[in-house]
Amino acid sequence: METAAVARNSVQIGQTFMNNQIESVLDQVFEPYLKHGADDYIGESVSQIEHMSQCAELARRQGYDDEVILAAFFHDLGHICAKYDKTDNMGGYGRISHEKVGADFLRARGFSEKIAILVEKHVETKRYLCARNSAYYNNLSPASKQTLIFQGGPMPATEAEAFESDPLHYLYIEVRTWDELAKQKNQPVPDLDIYRSMARKHLQQQYGIS
Ligand code: FE
Repeated sequence: METAAVARNSVQIGQTFMNNQIESVLDQVFEPYLKHGADDYIGESVSQIEHMSQCAELARRQGYDDEVILAAFFHDLGHICAKYDKTDNMGGYGRISHEKVGADFLRARGFSEKIAILVEKHVETKRYLCARNSAYYNNLSPASKQTLIFQGGPMPATEAEAFESDPLHYLYIEVRTWDELAKQKNQPVPDLDIYRSMARKHLQQQYGIS
């Protein structure tokens, strides 16, 4: 075989391998939704899958890119991973540090740092908003007020100032706002393949094979 053909062949083999790796990652991040997504959303009136897809839809409607939409979709992935491990469940309201569990789960599988950090910050942002805006605290659902206690309560002023100096903080607040809104009953759930395709495209870019 000519040298150019050998090179083409090995590129093709490499891409097939990477695509198989990506499908395996997609199975891992979507399997928990398929297995547990219809479970109750820890004290709220909608299921996990309704909550995640409504959150992603709010991001999409505001014209955000795929990374932000995927972060909105995966923001509570850590709660679903916790179904495999019943410890630290905040008195039945989900897993302590679910935001970190979810973010690390995504990082370890090659999702971008922007997606991971948006997932990771969604609890800290609740603590920030509770410190800065008493109306925000008053409007939290009873379950969300309950988990705030386990999450460390409202942020002290110095921590809130540091939060505001993070250039992505406006996006953290967006994700948190969608999180609070994405609890509407009786909304149709979209086909999860929409998000699987979006995540595949993202991972192909991350793995450099797009
Ligand atoms: Fe949530």
